[in-house]
Amino acid sequence: TDVTELLLSRIRDVPDYPVPGVTFKDITPLLADPVAFAALTDALADFSVRHGATKIVGLEARGFILGAPVALRAGLGFIPVRKAGKLPGATLRQSYDLEYGSAEIEVHAEDLAADDRVMVIDDVLATGGTAEASLELIRRSGAQVAGVAVLMELGFLEGRRKLVQALDGAPLEAL
Ligand code: 5GP
Repeated sequence: TDVTELLLSRIRDVPDYPVPGVTFKDITPLLADPVAFAALTDALADFSVRHGATKIVGLEARGFILGAPVALRAGLGFIPVRKAGKLPGATLRQSYDLEYGSAEIEVHAEDLAADDRVMVIDDVLATGGTAEASLELIRRSGAQVAGVAVLMELGFLEGRRKLVQALDGAPLEAL
């Protein structure tokens, strides 16, 4: 569609970043274009509302930039999932494997209620490790998963397949 073309045209490929052989998808040109940024925000908000979300979770850090305007647009609350050690209150913590080593993310447990349906927002789905850990946090909080919505999915990394179990039938949208 026209929106897809617009969004694609504002994503910059950066070769050999952060390491040789990897091509990084840089979304800063999209953020710098208010028409493209609004189109992206609207599409992610529409998807969230259509699937009955009651809360938006954004994944640090680009998921904050996208998730906050999506939450406002959808009329829903925003909840940050942060790298471990950044949230001041009582948290749930989840670790996940990286190519080398592991990482941990956290959420404020009291911000998610049992009757919430949570939409997870991020810019890029790569291996799916980050999204999978965030879905695990949501389930452990007792809330329901409404789905995952991202700007872009790197299909060759098969993150979609990694998320099948954690999604448990909830939708995954990659614009
Ligand atoms: P995953 O856990 O799916 O392997 O990695 C996804 C996380 O890493 C996301 O939070 C995303 O922001 C970041 N990420 C991985 N590759 C890229 C990329 O090429 N471009 C951008 N913008 N983010 C990436």
